[in-house]
Amino acid sequence: MWAEQLKEAAAFIRDRDDFLIVSHVQPDGDAISSTVTVAWMLEKLGKRYTMLNEGAVPSRLRFLWKSSDIHAMDNNDQPEGNSPVRQYRNVICVDCADYARVGRTAAWFAPDAELLNIDHHPTNNGFGRVNLMKFHAAATAEILFELLDELGMEPDADVATAIYTGLLTDTGGFRYSSTSPLVMAMASRLLQAGANGPELAEHLLERMTPGQLRILQRGLSRLELSEDERIAWLWVTSEDLEETGATNEDLEGLVNYPRNIEGVEVGLLFKQNGEQSVKVSMRSAGKVNVAEVAQRFGGGGHVRAAGCRFTDPLPEVIRLTIEEVRKALEAL
Ligand code: 5GP
Ligand code: MN
Ligand code: MN
Repeated sequence: MWAEQLKEAAAFIRDRDDFLIVSHVQPDGDAISSTVTVAWMLEKLGKRYTMLNEGAVPSRLRFLWKSSDIHAMDNNDQPEGNSPVRQYRNVICVDCADYARVGRTAAWFAPDAELLNIDHHPTNNGFGRVNLMKFHAAATAEILFELLDELGMEPDADVATAIYTGLLTDTGGFRYSSTSPLVMAMASRLLQAGANGPELAEHLLERMTPGQLRILQRGLSRLELSEDERIAWLWVTSEDLEETGATNEDLEGLVNYPRNIEGVEVGLLFKQNGEQSVKVSMRSAGKVNVAEVAQRFGGGGHVRAAGCRFTDPLPEVIRLTIEEVRKALEAL
């Protein structure tokens, strides 16, 4: 089955031309790495393509090959980004757990567009015309490395760096349970092809911006624990971001602090964005399937890392979420 899926995805790329490549809103390391990896494959095949994301490329990821060519719809420097220059029939979606995750980039899809959906989220419902999905893959970048092999291509340092970045960031530095023997074998090949492992780890995982440290300080000052100490949470607001000089990217990793507490099964981060908009990040220590909890609120993700969005006031969101997490804990 998997070999069939790989062949079908390779055919989608080989048989067509002029693609739009998109990933999810608020792109992470895997989303951007996967976008440029697909671009690299298309470029080698002499195909035309455009890369697009609703949001800007996080500054930490701007070193990646051709990442500066990714059009950002929210980028005021590119006013054309807000309304489509034109629409595309051949669309490749990477790292999108569901169709809604492409955000406003959907405005660039032609009404008769056909989608190639490449993803590793277990909640993905196969929204593509062609679907290349492997739910136990550590990252979408892992799937793309297999596709690269399927297309008979040898990675150079540029694409090796991108794929390594996707693997490194989605496995939390090759630590999560998704870090399979295949992931480590791939990492080995990528290092041989020119990816600089230590430099990437330092740049992507160790270094912190002053804003990141200040928002961590503020977030931790609000840490709360449930009575049984199995749920821990923090919350931050957009005013916090303004006052600390932190950006949205600086929030990445913050949710791990509540989750990392000894005895805690579920860690939560609530990010308020205006009066009635809250984003919830959920992390599980392993027992609770947080993707299922997030799905109950219209979100999704992985067993141990998931998220969802609410249009309710923050105290209400905190109450509702913790209630569902409690139920999940009681059902264990
Ligand atoms: P994070 O908390 O880091 O934003 O997201 C954790 C995981 O949950 C990611 O794999 C992400 O794709 C998924 N996720 C986060 N927010 C949403 C959402 O609103 N909908 C869906 N379907 N998945 C989400
Ligand atoms: Mn992602
Ligand atoms: Mn991913």
